[in-house]
Amino acid sequence: MLKLDGYKLKKQFNTPLQFNTALQVQGLVMLRQNLASAITLLALSSFQVTSTAYAATNLATTNQADLKWPNNYQAAVSLSYDDALLSQLNYAIPALNKHGFKASFYLTLSNSGTQTALARWRDIAADGHELGNHTLFHACSKSIEGREWVEPHNNIDTKTVAQMQQEIETANTFLQAIDQQTERTFTPPCGDFYAADGNYIDAIRENFVAIKGYNPQLAPKFDLLLMPENVDGETLINFVKQAQQQGGIANILFHGIEEDYLSVSNQAHNELLQYLSDNRDLLWVDTYLNIMQHVKQRTTAPAQ
Ligand SMILES: [Zn+2]
Repeated sequence: MLKLDGYKLKKQFNTPLQFNTALQVQGLVMLRQNLASAITLLALSSFQVTSTAYAATNLATTNQADLKWPNNYQAAVSLSYDDALLSQLNYAIPALNKHGFKASFYLTLSNSGTQTALARWRDIAADGHELGNHTLFHACSKSIEGREWVEPHNNIDTKTVAQMQQEIETANTFLQAIDQQTERTFTPPCGDFYAADGNYIDAIRENFVAIKGYNPQLAPKFDLLLMPENVDGETLINFVKQAQQQGGIANILFHGIEEDYLSVSNQAHNELLQYLSDNRDLLWVDTYLNIMQHVKQRTTAPAQ
């Protein structure tokens, strides 16, 4: 098992037992056939996961071949911003507005940025951006190497699936109070899928249109993920180009823009958005909710 320093990224991806997964970390490819334990995937500056997770019985496979993006777009691009950080409002929102793009903002409701900017989150939701669910308290696994920062009362290793489910459903209620919406998507804090007594994602899946980057019923090209930190615009653009080649979704999970943590410079972010704008005839940039509603409709309805 490949294990890199995780302190800076604080990320873990757990993968269910029944999947074979190829994980690509900064060019290093790791294949695991027997995923009996959590996979810790870590890199110093950024990482990219190309999940080839397939369910043993892939219910949607037959219809996925027919899935076309609207307007013959080559790929969909979901720009998302986690943890309710103010730099996202200060830098990302003006840049998105400049180009007319909509994105998804996954609020951790206990974070100070949620409360202090409540009116601004409400405004951007009214403007068509998605407020996604990122739980109330952002519980992560403290037992993973490099997770010293996880507070004991927010250690998912000691929380049950039922507790996580209740927390996440309550978060949905709070989000609905902010944006009046009843449909949204979810991003697992730290990419952790397991509570003390099992996989909590499976318990909440029905509450959401989709789970960011974890839709094992779909082909891997729909779950391409990049969580960038301190990378240049070219790196971001190359990731989108990869999705264009595959015809799937480029999921870019930002945290801070220019400021805060796990940050990408405003310049790199602007360069990415300029590329997306220059290629707006080829790329569908939208909220994860809108993109996945399209995917869901096309993969659950009978083939035409
Ligand atoms: Zn987070």
